[in-house]
Amino acid sequence: MTAKLIDGKAIAASLRAELAARIAKLTEAGARKPGLAVVLVGEDPASQVYVGSKVKQTTEIGMLSIEHRLPAETTEATLLALVAKLNADPTIDGILVQLPLPAHIDADKVIEAITPGKDVDGFHPVNVGRLSTGGRAFVPCTPRGSMKLIKSVRENLSGLHAVVVGRSNIVGKPMLQLLLAENCTVTVAHSRTKDLAETCRQADILVAAVGRPRLLNETHVKPGAIVIDVGINRIADPATGKNKLVGDVDFDRVAPVAGAITPVPGGVGPMTIACLLENTLESYEAQTKKSGRFDAVTEWICASGNIQP
Ligand code: NAD
Repeated sequence: MTAKLIDGKAIAASLRAELAARIAKLTEAGARKPGLAVVLVGEDPASQVYVGSKVKQTTEIGMLSIEHRLPAETTEATLLALVAKLNADPTIDGILVQLPLPAHIDADKVIEAITPGKDVDGFHPVNVGRLSTGGRAFVPCTPRGSMKLIKSVRENLSGLHAVVVGRSNIVGKPMLQLLLAENCTVTVAHSRTKDLAETCRQADILVAAVGRPRLLNETHVKPGAIVIDVGINRIADPATGKNKLVGDVDFDRVAPVAGAITPVPGGVGPMTIACLLENTLESYEAQTKKSGRFDAVTEWICASGNIQP
Protein backbone atom coordinates (compact mmCIF):
# COMPACT_ATOMS: atom_id res chain seq x y z
CA MET A 1 0.00 0.00 0.00
CA THR A 2 1.32 3.43 -0.91
CA ALA A 3 -1.52 5.69 0.25
CA LYS A 4 -1.42 7.39 3.63
CA LEU A 5 -4.16 5.89 5.80
CA ILE A 6 -6.45 8.62 7.16
CA ASP A 7 -7.29 7.40 10.65
CA GLY A 8 -10.79 8.76 11.27
CA LYS A 9 -11.09 6.84 14.53
CA ALA A 10 -8.04 8.60 16.00
CA ILE A 11 -8.97 12.04 14.60
CA ALA A 12 -12.50 11.68 16.01
CA ALA A 13 -11.12 10.62 19.42
CA SER A 14 -8.87 13.67 19.56
CA LEU A 15 -11.79 15.95 18.58
CA ARG A 16 -13.94 14.42 21.34
CA ALA A 17 -11.12 14.91 23.86
CA GLU A 18 -10.86 18.58 22.83
CA LEU A 19 -14.63 19.02 23.20
CA ALA A 20 -14.60 17.27 26.60
CA ALA A 21 -11.89 19.67 27.81
CA ARG A 22 -13.92 22.70 26.63
CA ILE A 23 -17.04 21.38 28.39
CA ALA A 24 -15.13 20.61 31.62
CA LYS A 25 -13.86 24.20 31.68
CA LEU A 26 -17.42 25.54 31.33
CA THR A 27 -19.01 23.27 33.92
CA GLU A 28 -16.15 23.72 36.41
CA ALA A 29 -16.86 27.46 36.17
CA GLY A 30 -20.47 26.72 37.21
CA ALA A 31 -22.18 26.79 33.81
CA ARG A 32 -24.81 24.23 32.86
CA LYS A 33 -23.86 21.30 30.60
CA PRO A 34 -24.58 21.53 26.87
CA GLY A 35 -27.62 19.34 26.12
CA LEU A 36 -28.40 17.12 23.15
CA ALA A 37 -31.83 15.55 22.66
CA VAL A 38 -32.06 12.53 20.39
CA VAL A 39 -35.45 11.32 19.21
CA LEU A 40 -35.93 7.84 17.76
CA VAL A 41 -39.27 6.68 16.38
CA GLY A 42 -39.69 2.96 15.78
CA GLU A 43 -37.37 -0.03 15.99
CA ASP A 44 -35.10 0.26 12.91
CA PRO A 45 -32.07 -1.82 14.02
CA ALA A 46 -29.41 0.40 12.36
CA SER A 47 -31.01 3.53 13.85
CA GLN A 48 -31.02 1.92 17.29
CA VAL A 49 -27.27 1.28 17.02
CA TYR A 50 -26.59 4.88 15.84
CA VAL A 51 -28.71 6.38 18.61
CA GLY A 52 -27.03 4.15 21.22
CA SER A 53 -23.58 5.36 20.09
CA LYS A 54 -24.68 9.00 20.03
CA VAL A 55 -26.10 8.81 23.56
CA LYS A 56 -22.98 7.05 24.89
CA GLN A 57 -20.51 9.52 23.35
CA THR A 58 -22.60 12.55 24.37
CA THR A 59 -22.48 11.45 28.01
CA GLU A 60 -18.80 10.48 27.83
CA ILE A 61 -17.69 14.00 26.89
CA GLY A 62 -19.71 15.56 29.70
CA MET A 63 -22.84 16.70 27.89
CA LEU A 64 -26.42 16.20 29.00
CA SER A 65 -28.03 13.50 26.87
CA ILE A 66 -31.81 13.30 26.63
CA GLU A 67 -33.22 10.34 24.79
CA HIS A 68 -36.79 9.94 23.53
CA ARG A 69 -37.58 6.49 22.15
CA LEU A 70 -41.10 6.50 20.73
CA PRO A 71 -43.10 3.55 19.34
CA ALA A 72 -43.40 3.11 15.54
CA GLU A 73 -47.10 4.00 15.64
CA THR A 74 -46.41 7.48 17.14
CA THR A 75 -48.47 10.08 15.28
CA GLU A 76 -46.94 13.01 13.42
CA ALA A 77 -48.79 15.38 15.77
CA THR A 78 -47.22 13.73 18.84
CA LEU A 79 -43.76 13.98 17.33
CA LEU A 80 -44.27 17.63 16.34
CA ALA A 81 -45.45 18.39 19.88
CA LEU A 82 -42.28 16.80 21.30
CA VAL A 83 -40.11 18.85 18.91
CA ALA A 84 -41.93 22.03 20.01
CA LYS A 85 -41.27 21.12 23.65
CA LEU A 86 -37.55 20.55 22.97
CA ASN A 87 -37.35 23.81 20.97
CA ALA A 88 -38.53 25.68 24.06
CA ASP A 89 -36.39 23.74 26.57
CA PRO A 90 -33.52 25.98 27.74
CA THR A 91 -31.40 22.97 28.79
CA ILE A 92 -31.35 21.61 25.21
CA ASP A 93 -28.90 23.06 22.64
CA GLY A 94 -29.23 20.43 19.93
CA ILE A 95 -32.17 18.37 18.66
CA LEU A 96 -31.67 15.35 16.46
CA VAL A 97 -34.55 13.36 15.05
CA GLN A 98 -33.10 10.09 13.77
CA LEU A 99 -33.99 9.36 10.15
CA PRO A 100 -35.61 7.45 8.52
CA LEU A 101 -38.98 8.09 10.13
CA PRO A 102 -41.92 5.69 9.69
CA ALA A 103 -43.75 6.23 6.37
CA HIS A 104 -46.84 7.84 7.95
CA ILE A 105 -44.73 10.76 9.25
CA ASP A 106 -43.66 13.58 6.90
CA ALA A 107 -39.91 13.86 7.60
CA ASP A 108 -39.62 17.29 5.91
CA LYS A 109 -42.36 18.66 8.15
CA VAL A 110 -40.54 17.38 11.25
CA ILE A 111 -37.14 18.75 10.12
CA GLU A 112 -38.72 22.14 9.42
CA ALA A 113 -40.32 22.13 12.88
CA ILE A 114 -36.90 22.01 14.59
CA THR A 115 -35.80 25.54 15.40
CA PRO A 116 -32.79 26.31 13.12
CA GLY A 117 -30.62 27.32 16.08
CA LYS A 118 -30.92 23.81 17.57
CA ASP A 119 -30.78 21.96 14.24
CA VAL A 120 -27.40 20.33 14.90
CA ASP A 121 -27.90 17.94 11.96
CA GLY A 122 -27.96 20.98 9.64
CA PHE A 123 -30.97 19.69 7.68
CA HIS A 124 -33.36 22.62 8.22
CA PRO A 125 -33.84 24.72 5.04
CA VAL A 126 -32.52 27.81 6.87
CA ASN A 127 -29.22 26.06 7.61
CA VAL A 128 -29.09 24.50 4.13
CA GLY A 129 -29.66 27.94 2.59
CA ARG A 130 -27.13 29.67 4.82
CA LEU A 131 -24.51 27.05 4.00
CA SER A 132 -25.06 27.65 0.27
CA THR A 133 -24.96 31.46 0.59
CA GLY A 134 -21.85 31.35 2.76
CA GLY A 135 -23.62 32.45 5.96
CA ARG A 136 -23.39 31.05 9.45
CA ALA A 137 -25.00 27.65 9.58
CA PHE A 138 -24.95 24.27 11.18
CA VAL A 139 -23.05 22.07 8.76
CA PRO A 140 -24.32 18.48 8.37
CA CYS A 141 -22.13 16.19 10.45
CA THR A 142 -20.86 13.68 7.87
CA PRO A 143 -19.67 16.31 5.35
CA ARG A 144 -18.18 18.38 8.19
CA GLY A 145 -16.27 15.32 9.40
CA SER A 146 -15.17 14.47 5.86
CA MET A 147 -13.73 17.97 5.42
CA LYS A 148 -11.73 17.58 8.62
CA LEU A 149 -10.28 14.33 7.26
CA ILE A 150 -9.32 16.01 3.97
CA LYS A 151 -7.73 18.88 5.91
CA SER A 152 -5.75 16.41 8.01
CA VAL A 153 -3.88 15.58 4.79
CA ARG A 154 -3.75 19.00 3.18
CA GLU A 155 -4.66 22.38 4.68
CA ASN A 156 -4.89 24.51 1.53
CA LEU A 157 -7.33 23.06 -1.01
CA SER A 158 -7.49 26.14 -3.25
CA GLY A 159 -7.65 25.31 -6.96
CA LEU A 160 -7.84 21.55 -6.48
CA HIS A 161 -10.40 19.60 -8.48
CA ALA A 162 -12.81 17.75 -6.20
CA VAL A 163 -15.26 15.15 -7.47
CA VAL A 164 -18.16 14.17 -5.20
CA VAL A 165 -19.99 11.00 -6.23
CA GLY A 166 -23.55 11.20 -4.89
CA ARG A 167 -25.96 14.15 -4.65
CA SER A 168 -27.97 13.45 -1.51
CA ASN A 169 -29.10 16.29 0.75
CA ILE A 170 -27.31 14.64 3.68
CA VAL A 171 -23.88 14.12 2.14
CA GLY A 172 -23.31 14.99 -1.55
CA LYS A 173 -24.84 18.47 -1.75
CA PRO A 174 -23.40 19.88 1.51
CA MET A 175 -20.02 18.36 0.55
CA LEU A 176 -20.19 20.34 -2.70
CA GLN A 177 -20.78 23.57 -0.74
CA LEU A 178 -17.94 22.93 1.71
CA LEU A 179 -15.42 22.12 -1.04
CA LEU A 180 -16.54 25.16 -3.03
CA ALA A 181 -16.03 27.35 0.05
CA GLU A 182 -12.45 26.03 0.14
CA ASN A 183 -11.96 27.26 -3.44
CA CYS A 184 -12.00 23.82 -5.03
CA THR A 185 -13.36 23.30 -8.52
CA VAL A 186 -16.15 20.84 -7.80
CA THR A 187 -17.85 18.24 -9.98
CA VAL A 188 -20.82 16.32 -8.61
CA ALA A 189 -21.31 12.91 -10.21
CA HIS A 190 -24.41 10.78 -9.71
CA SER A 191 -26.40 7.83 -11.03
CA ARG A 192 -26.88 9.46 -14.46
CA THR A 193 -23.25 10.55 -14.95
CA LYS A 194 -22.13 9.18 -18.32
CA ASP A 195 -18.49 8.16 -17.80
CA LEU A 196 -18.03 7.87 -14.06
CA ALA A 197 -14.43 6.56 -14.22
CA GLU A 198 -13.26 9.37 -16.51
CA THR A 199 -14.99 11.99 -14.32
CA CYS A 200 -13.51 10.57 -11.13
CA ARG A 201 -9.99 10.34 -12.60
CA GLN A 202 -9.92 14.16 -12.79
CA ALA A 203 -10.16 14.39 -9.02
CA ASP A 204 -7.41 15.58 -6.73
CA ILE A 205 -10.00 14.93 -4.00
CA LEU A 206 -12.51 12.12 -4.55
CA VAL A 207 -15.47 11.78 -2.19
CA ALA A 208 -17.65 8.69 -2.55
CA ALA A 209 -21.16 8.88 -1.04
CA VAL A 210 -23.14 6.41 -3.09
CA GLY A 211 -24.17 3.36 -1.08
CA ARG A 212 -22.84 0.80 -3.64
CA PRO A 213 -20.27 -1.66 -2.24
CA ARG A 214 -16.80 -1.13 -3.79
CA LEU A 215 -18.19 0.79 -6.79
CA LEU A 216 -14.96 2.78 -7.23
CA ASN A 217 -11.68 1.04 -7.99
CA GLU A 218 -8.23 1.95 -9.33
CA THR A 219 -9.71 2.87 -12.74
CA HIS A 220 -11.57 5.76 -11.02
CA VAL A 221 -8.59 7.23 -9.17
CA LYS A 222 -5.87 9.63 -10.28
CA PRO A 223 -2.50 8.66 -8.77
CA GLY A 224 -1.92 10.62 -5.56
CA ALA A 225 -5.58 11.64 -5.04
CA ILE A 226 -7.12 12.06 -1.59
CA VAL A 227 -9.95 9.50 -1.39
CA ILE A 228 -12.73 9.90 1.18
CA ASP A 229 -15.08 6.92 1.41
CA VAL A 230 -18.38 7.87 3.05
CA GLY A 231 -20.15 4.65 2.05
CA ILE A 232 -21.27 2.14 4.65
CA ASN A 233 -22.44 -1.09 3.06
CA ARG A 234 -23.16 -4.38 4.80
CA ILE A 235 -22.17 -7.40 2.70
CA ALA A 236 -21.76 -11.12 3.38
CA ASP A 237 -18.14 -12.11 3.94
CA PRO A 238 -17.56 -15.47 2.18
CA ALA A 239 -14.52 -16.14 4.42
CA THR A 240 -16.50 -16.03 7.68
CA GLY A 241 -20.11 -16.37 6.51
CA LYS A 242 -20.90 -13.27 8.57
CA ASN A 243 -21.79 -9.73 7.50
CA LYS A 244 -19.05 -7.14 7.22
CA LEU A 245 -18.90 -3.42 6.44
CA VAL A 246 -17.34 -2.16 3.22
CA GLY A 247 -17.25 1.27 1.65
CA ASP A 248 -18.10 2.57 -1.82
CA VAL A 249 -14.40 2.35 -2.65
CA ASP A 250 -12.56 -0.92 -3.26
CA PHE A 251 -9.91 -0.20 -0.64
CA ASP A 252 -7.43 -2.93 -1.62
CA ARG A 253 -7.40 -1.87 -5.28
CA VAL A 254 -7.36 1.89 -4.64
CA ALA A 255 -4.85 2.10 -1.78
CA PRO A 256 -1.81 1.41 -4.06
CA VAL A 257 -2.82 4.30 -6.35
CA ALA A 258 -4.23 6.99 -4.02
CA GLY A 259 -2.16 9.51 -2.06
CA ALA A 260 -4.36 9.18 1.03
CA ILE A 261 -7.46 7.12 1.78
CA THR A 262 -10.01 6.57 4.55
CA PRO A 263 -10.78 2.99 5.61
CA VAL A 264 -14.28 1.58 6.22
CA PRO A 265 -14.89 1.14 9.08
CA GLY A 266 -12.73 3.62 10.96
CA GLY A 267 -12.75 6.54 8.52
CA VAL A 268 -15.67 8.92 8.04
CA GLY A 269 -18.05 6.98 10.37
CA PRO A 270 -16.50 8.00 13.72
CA MET A 271 -16.23 11.63 12.54
CA THR A 272 -19.99 11.95 12.09
CA ILE A 273 -20.86 11.63 15.79
CA ALA A 274 -17.82 13.70 16.85
CA CYS A 275 -19.05 16.53 14.59
CA LEU A 276 -22.57 16.20 15.96
CA LEU A 277 -21.10 16.83 19.42
CA GLU A 278 -19.06 19.75 18.07
CA ASN A 279 -22.21 21.28 16.50
CA THR A 280 -24.03 20.89 19.82
CA LEU A 281 -21.25 22.61 21.75
CA GLU A 282 -21.17 25.44 19.20
CA SER A 283 -24.94 25.78 19.52
CA TYR A 284 -24.54 26.00 23.29
CA GLU A 285 -21.87 28.67 22.90
CA ALA A 286 -24.11 30.65 20.56
CA GLN A 287 -27.17 30.24 22.81
CA THR A 288 -25.16 31.42 25.80
CA LYS A 289 -23.60 34.18 23.68
CA LYS A 290 -20.04 33.02 24.32
CA SER A 291 -19.27 32.75 20.63
CA GLY A 292 -20.72 34.56 17.65
CA ARG A 293 -20.70 31.78 15.13
CA PHE A 294 -24.43 31.18 14.99
CA ASP A 295 -25.53 34.65 16.03
CA ALA A 296 -27.36 35.13 12.77
CA VAL A 297 -29.31 31.91 13.21
CA THR A 298 -29.99 32.69 16.86
CA GLU A 299 -31.18 36.21 16.01
CA TRP A 300 -33.47 34.82 13.34
CA ILE A 301 -34.97 32.42 15.84
CA CYS A 302 -35.35 35.10 18.49
CA ALA A 303 -36.94 37.44 15.97
CA SER A 304 -39.45 34.76 15.01
CA GLY A 305 -40.35 34.50 18.69
CA ASN A 306 -39.62 30.80 19.07
CA ILE A 307 -37.17 31.13 21.96
CA GLN A 308 -35.83 33.83 24.18
CA PRO A 309 -32.29 35.08 23.50
P1 NAD B 1 -28.45 8.28 -1.07
O1 NAD B 1 -28.99 6.94 -1.45
O2 NAD B 1 -29.37 9.32 -0.55
O3 NAD B 1 -27.67 8.89 -2.32
C1 NAD B 1 -26.84 8.11 -3.11
C2 NAD B 1 -26.35 8.92 -4.29
O4 NAD B 1 -25.51 8.09 -5.09
C3 NAD B 1 -27.46 9.44 -5.19
O5 NAD B 1 -27.29 10.83 -5.35
C4 NAD B 1 -27.26 8.71 -6.52
O6 NAD B 1 -27.46 9.57 -7.65
C5 NAD B 1 -25.81 8.28 -6.46
N1 NAD B 1 -25.61 7.01 -7.16
C6 NAD B 1 -26.30 5.87 -7.02
N2 NAD B 1 -25.81 4.92 -7.84
C7 NAD B 1 -24.78 5.47 -8.50
C8 NAD B 1 -23.87 5.01 -9.47
N3 NAD B 1 -23.93 3.74 -9.92
N4 NAD B 1 -22.94 5.85 -9.93
C9 NAD B 1 -22.86 7.11 -9.48
N5 NAD B 1 -23.69 7.61 -8.54
C10 NAD B 1 -24.64 6.81 -8.07
O7 NAD B 1 -27.28 7.97 -0.04
P2 NAD B 1 -26.58 8.88 1.10
O8 NAD B 1 -27.52 9.08 2.23
O9 NAD B 1 -25.89 10.05 0.50
O10 NAD B 1 -25.46 7.84 1.59
C11 NAD B 1 -24.46 7.36 0.72
C12 NAD B 1 -23.63 6.34 1.45
O11 NAD B 1 -23.01 6.96 2.56
C13 NAD B 1 -24.43 5.16 2.03
O12 NAD B 1 -23.62 4.00 1.99
C14 NAD B 1 -24.64 5.55 3.47
O13 NAD B 1 -24.79 4.43 4.34
C15 NAD B 1 -23.35 6.27 3.75
N6 NAD B 1 -23.44 7.26 4.83
C16 NAD B 1 -22.47 7.22 5.78
C17 NAD B 1 -22.47 8.14 6.81
C18 NAD B 1 -21.39 8.08 7.82
O14 NAD B 1 -21.55 8.52 8.93
N7 NAD B 1 -20.22 7.57 7.45
C19 NAD B 1 -23.48 9.10 6.89
C20 NAD B 1 -24.45 9.15 5.89
C21 NAD B 1 -24.42 8.22 4.84
